[in-house]
Amino acid sequence: MIDLHTHSTFSDGSDTPAQLAQTAHDLGLSAIALTDHDTTASHEEMAAACERGGLELVSGVEVSLRDHEFPRQRHGEPAIARSVHVLAYFLPLDPAHPLQLKLASLRRDRDVRNRKLVALLQEQGLERITIDYLATLSGNVDSIGRPHFARAMFELHPEIVGERTDEAWNRLFIDWLGSEGRAYVPKTSMPIEEFVDSAKGSGTVFSIAHPLVNYLDAVTSQGIQSTMPRVMASLRERGFAGIEAYYGGTSAQTRALMVKLTRDAGMIPTGGSDYHGHYKEDTSLGFGYSGDLRVPDEILDELKAAR
Ligand code: AMP
Ligand code: FE
Ligand code: FE
Ligand code: ZN
Repeated sequence: MIDLHTHSTFSDGSDTPAQLAQTAHDLGLSAIALTDHDTTASHEEMAAACERGGLELVSGVEVSLRDHEFPRQRHGEPAIARSVHVLAYFLPLDPAHPLQLKLASLRRDRDVRNRKLVALLQEQGLERITIDYLATLSGNVDSIGRPHFARAMFELHPEIVGERTDEAWNRLFIDWLGSEGRAYVPKTSMPIEEFVDSAKGSGTVFSIAHPLVNYLDAVTSQGIQSTMPRVMASLRERGFAGIEAYYGGTSAQTRALMVKLTRDAGMIPTGGSDYHGHYKEDTSLGFGYSGDLRVPDEILDELKAAR
């Protein structure tokens, strides 16, 4: 069993790489990919921890990019490029590599977004939210993400957002921080193609994270069957080898359908839990939100062959 989608304290997870490697080892995972948002800064620490535990580490990252081929149409408004999450594996770690320069650019976009979001929240009465406070939560100003905003809002402004419960956390993303919320600030305009092109010749393998979250408004088996084959064909054409069909946030039935469609598209069904520690209380490493996720070891062999 493997887990190819996890987050550490280097982005919006609450476990350090060492804690993550320890839990993975205790669970008996054979391999893990640490896919922090916009950065591979966690790799070195994770590699040392995995080596101590005899666990195979796959280098990885998760980034938000724009997909212009499948624009999003919101009630009455003009269509806008869709924001999707992309996973990259076996990527170059040299900071001078073009792909790492793209990551640096995405981190700058994140910082600009974070500062705008702080200003917007302050305007709406949450004046105790500051970049300094968020950086204390995340440990580093570079790794601040929306889950840190959510935590800060519950800690500093319970009079506005109420007490933190799992339900209130989800509501906060709907009412405030999500794409339809009153404090939404989009992050980047970098197209998928620009990021994928920067990896040319490096052996990086791309997969699309939680594809149904990105491409479907409502998850029904009919919706999956009418939309996903087109999406998969287009992504394959644009350099993607994988689709995260084994996603820990979906049911076993949905995963089975997604694995079948991914195979039909001639692609690799990748998989992971999207573990974030305390920033996603309901999701376990390896087993996902559903608790019954099992990503087969063979998937990693296929990914290696696709390099
Ligand atoms: P950011 O990269 O800062 O824009 O934040 C995106 C992160 O926020 C995701 O990786 C998740 O960890 C979290 N997130 C996004 N949408 C939701 C949601 N609806 N509920 C809970 N967490 C979410
Ligand atoms: Fe995240
Ligand atoms: Fe994601
Ligand atoms: Zn993730």
